Amino acid sequence: MRLLVTGGAGFIGSALIRHLIRNTEHHVLNLDKLTYAGNLESLAEIEGDPRYQFIEADIADHERVSEALLQFQPDAIMHLAAESHVDRSIDGPAAFIQTNIVGTYQLLEATRAYWLSLPENRRAAFRFHHISTDEVYGDLHGVDDLFTETTPYAPSSPYSASKASSDHLVRAWHRTYGLPVLITNCSNNYGPYHFPEKLIPLVILNALEGKKLPVYGDGSQIRDWLFVEDHARALLKVVSEGKVGETYNIGGHNEQKNIDVVRGICALLEELAPNKPAGLERYEDLITFVKDRPGHDLRYAIDASKIERDLGWVPQETFQTGLRKTVQWYLDNKEWCRRVQDGSYQRERLGSVEKI
Ligand code: NAD
Repeated sequence: MRLLVTGGAGFIGSALIRHLIRNTEHHVLNLDKLTYAGNLESLAEIEGDPRYQFIEADIADHERVSEALLQFQPDAIMHLAAESHVDRSIDGPAAFIQTNIVGTYQLLEATRAYWLSLPENRRAAFRFHHISTDEVYGDLHGVDDLFTETTPYAPSSPYSASKASSDHLVRAWHRTYGLPVLITNCSNNYGPYHFPEKLIPLVILNALEGKKLPVYGDGSQIRDWLFVEDHARALLKVVSEGKVGETYNIGGHNEQKNIDVVRGICALLEELAPNKPAGLERYEDLITFVKDRPGHDLRYAIDASKIERDLGWVPQETFQTGLRKTVQWYLDNKEWCRRVQDGSYQRERLGSVEKI
């Protein structure tokens, strides 16, 4: 297959592309605008592979996207490009509306024109796979409740509202124009190459430097965590075998309170990085509770039984095994972290190639 991946220089997109190049024969075009969250150094290990290409472009740029589609001739689009950080969406929602809603709309329109231009057999096989989040469902209050594919949407933050809007657009393009779409809604991801503004890498890197470990409120918010490589495997399953028009929830059966995640990282660091910054007795002593985020959802948890039953996908990592791998990865990849933290990954782009 020829797969066009949007947002492939981001955390999940780069894990997906590494997985595709390592484990399949597919050809991949990575279309990414390279915002602060896009880092081509996360793709260094596959750079130069003849089945991988990159183009720097904005999904909202209809003309450029249309050109890329005509030249690359994808059999499927996997759409991950988005503004993705909730705190940033609270401080400045405009970019989220522009990329997640307007960008998705422009991408859908460019895709529809391309799809209509395909010969009948390729048109029938074509797929537009939209990658979304469980945050569109809002907050879970009952302890036993889980999000299913039919849970009504009730997004709380500008980020989740913009993702919910994009999901609605994708569904409408299927119902109205017949575009063969697939939608996946996934729980919180973690793993290697995660941008250090997100909870798990932030805690690991702050702890190693002896900095405070900020925890919102009392840390009792519950998230359902999935190792990013399990997500990449699920996405490949869905784009290859998913039923057109369907939504699949993806989750790891790993509900954890934020405070327990932070304590778990501290415990792993005691074992894997025992040489602590001067004067620090226990990594846990760095935990600092900070004012809660406005509109913070208390609990998210995914019922992933549909994708397990229909497509035979199950996560390979437990939270314990995945978290250990993640902490070890950050300990082994200090150069990647340093270049993200000091901004050099943006100033001196390594491996940026633009060719289709
Ligand atoms: P990320 O922020 O790490 O990466 C986003 C990528 O999109 C970056 O490479 C960025 O340069 C690119 N991008 C942003 N705006 C663009 C534009 N206008 N045109 C082209 N490229 C653009 O995000 P992520 O964590 O990898 O998430 C990827 C997708 O998965 C998002 O759609 C997100 O909503 C969804 N998702 C994320 C999680 C999670 O836990 N991270 C969970 C579920 C779903």
